[in-house]
Amino acid sequence: MIRKIGVLCSGGDSPGMNAAIRSVTRVALNRGIEVVGIRNGYKGLIEKNFVPFGKTSVSEILARGGTILGSARLPEFKNEEVVKKAADILREAKIDALVVIGGDGSYKGANALTKQGINCIGLPGTIDNDISGTDYTIGFDTALNTIVECVDKLRDTSSSHHRCSVVEVMGNHCGDLAVFAGISCGAEIVITPETGYDEEMIMEKLAHLDNAGKNHAIVIISEKITDVAALASKISTNTGFAGRATVLGHIQRGGSPSPSDRLLASRMGEKAVDLLIEGVGGHCIGIVDNEITSMPIEEALQTPRKPKKAFYRLFNSLV
Ligand code: ATP
Repeated sequence: MIRKIGVLCSGGDSPGMNAAIRSVTRVALNRGIEVVGIRNGYKGLIEKNFVPFGKTSVSEILARGGTILGSARLPEFKNEEVVKKAADILREAKIDALVVIGGDGSYKGANALTKQGINCIGLPGTIDNDISGTDYTIGFDTALNTIVECVDKLRDTSSSHHRCSVVEVMGNHCGDLAVFAGISCGAEIVITPETGYDEEMIMEKLAHLDNAGKNHAIVIISEKITDVAALASKISTNTGFAGRATVLGHIQRGGSPSPSDRLLASRMGEKAVDLLIEGVGGHCIGIVDNEITSMPIEEALQTPRKPKKAFYRLFNSLV
């Protein structure tokens, strides 16, 4: 039986982490379990940076981006001795179990802690949608909204100046943000790790669009593929468009979470607490076909993410 749980955020932040913290806290309190917020991820855990949470500790945070708990990286957590120390600290503070909100690195930490006797559940908190075992991560929808808002604005100015906007979006090594944004914004070209990078094809397509009388073009490209400023310059040289690069950067990580992310975070938070009550540890939560699910972290980490083929097919059918 568990009496007290901890909650922490780890890795990069994402909009909706606060909604997840609130859900974990309120659900646990309503089930008669005490809650402790742990500041700054595993680093704060080792430093015993604990805050007792009541219902009002998580008031007025649902609509706020970022995380009230702060997030951090602690590379030393890969060391078993450090994990053992963390487990001892949790036992000393009478914290029986933990909810970890973060990416797959954070999941590995949660799994290591579970092996040291502290049941942990992972919630997928990242805008990148790059975690296995879930169709969507907490923060993805908000980031997509931000990208669409920005690209819509870029299209206005691109069409006034016969420009081609090359927009770099986040996603780590996952193209979901780019292809979803490409469909939502009516981009002409989408380049992701899944599509591969073919510069000749990009120039040919753009030259063709220019010859066909198109006034502007939008290219959405995932980060970590190429230097977008250099690509924009080549577009200016090789096509009739004036190429301009925009790197959206960390703006994609901010902002008030969308209703969809608030809902997802709230549903996942509830599932995490219920699993801990059942005595389950070392699992991560997902949403699959709109059902909240869970699977062992080890299984999730070994399962390759399914590329969203239907979305690429749709994008290609719309251009
Ligand atoms: P993001 O997707 O935003 O990068 P992430 O959770 O994958 O999030 P990481 O920096 O990979 O981010 O991991 C966050 C923290 O999780 C690390 O700083 C470390 O404390 C812990 N961690 C990462 N990998 C491991 C591991 N193999 N074993 C134990 N702990 C780990």
